[in-house]
Amino acid sequence: MPATRPLELDTLPEGLLDVSADRLHTLLPRPTLIHLPGRQDKPLFVSVLLHGNETTGLEAVQQVLRKYATRPLPRALSIFFGNIEAARHGHRRLEGQPDFNRVWPGTRHEPCTETALMAFVTETMARRRAFASVDIHNNTGLNPHYACVNRLEPQFLQLASLFGRLVIYFTHPKGTQAAALAAVCPAVTLECGKPGHRRGAEHASEFLEACLHLTEIPDHPVASEAIDLYHTVAQITVREDCAFGFDNSARDLRLGNDLDHLNFTDLAAGTTLGTLGNGLRRLPIQAFDETGRDVANDYFAIRDGQLVLKKNVMPSMLTLDEQIIRQDCLGYLMERITPEWSNARNARAHMSSAAPQKHGG
Ligand SMILES: [Zn+2]
Repeated sequence: MPATRPLELDTLPEGLLDVSADRLHTLLPRPTLIHLPGRQDKPLFVSVLLHGNETTGLEAVQQVLRKYATRPLPRALSIFFGNIEAARHGHRRLEGQPDFNRVWPGTRHEPCTETALMAFVTETMARRRAFASVDIHNNTGLNPHYACVNRLEPQFLQLASLFGRLVIYFTHPKGTQAAALAAVCPAVTLECGKPGHRRGAEHASEFLEACLHLTEIPDHPVASEAIDLYHTVAQITVREDCAFGFDNSARDLRLGNDLDHLNFTDLAAGTTLGTLGNGLRRLPIQAFDETGRDVANDYFAIRDGQLVLKKNVMPSMLTLDEQIIRQDCLGYLMERITPEWSNARNARAHMSSAAPQKHGG
């Protein structure tokens, strides 16, 4: 029976700096929260391995910790090691486990040991007055590195812009770490490309290092030309009763085997995404908007036995991994947005702060 509380430690176990994700269970037998002191008290909170096969977060944390092995951290650091059991087997999650990034406070999942576990971690980091929160992930398709935010507030976007200019705003699915921690402190999710690529871990560790050195997170708006901001408008899934695949053996839906090359490209209405099996009349996929409503008919149509786009969109996280498609989703649809910079400026004008503005707009 999994425990509703993590193992909590205030030192690094011997060997942690070099252990691989599939051997982590030999040091930490269950989900673990480690609190390390630093020159500044409020901790940076980092979660890794919420998805067991996404190993870049562990490697990034190890790189940072190695650097500070013999000197104090610039800021306290709390690290949550999530689905260690799935990491042992190289899976996102194990059969019978919920998704560890869908069970945080705000989740629609029924109460279970994992929802209690994540609630405990969130409360602990609130009590410790976390400075900022970073949740590190990989994806399986071909994607650039980007940061995600669940709030369009200046501090969230400032934090995201430290990772790169590509930022995605989403509020669905529910129960993510970043959405829960957003109630505590500025929070971002990092998407670092495919697991196992050295640049992903380097990029994430550089970001963590930058966060550790911040004395405060600027609360003025990010210059609008400094980031490319997109809003996730729908999560695409394949219907459970639909037999899909990427070759001719797929009975109901054969998806293009270079589908992930479409990520972060502008797609025109009429673009073909797959071929339908004989006689399939209804859409083989669903597309859930922010409220959880299926809006597939707004975006997709069947034309001459093909699954085609009905309007111009930009997809992200389209994957060729059939297990990920079943366990999570096929990908997302996005639209570009410009936040209300002027409103933020007006709000600032009412404050008495005379801090120098680094605004480039
Ligand atoms: Zn993930």
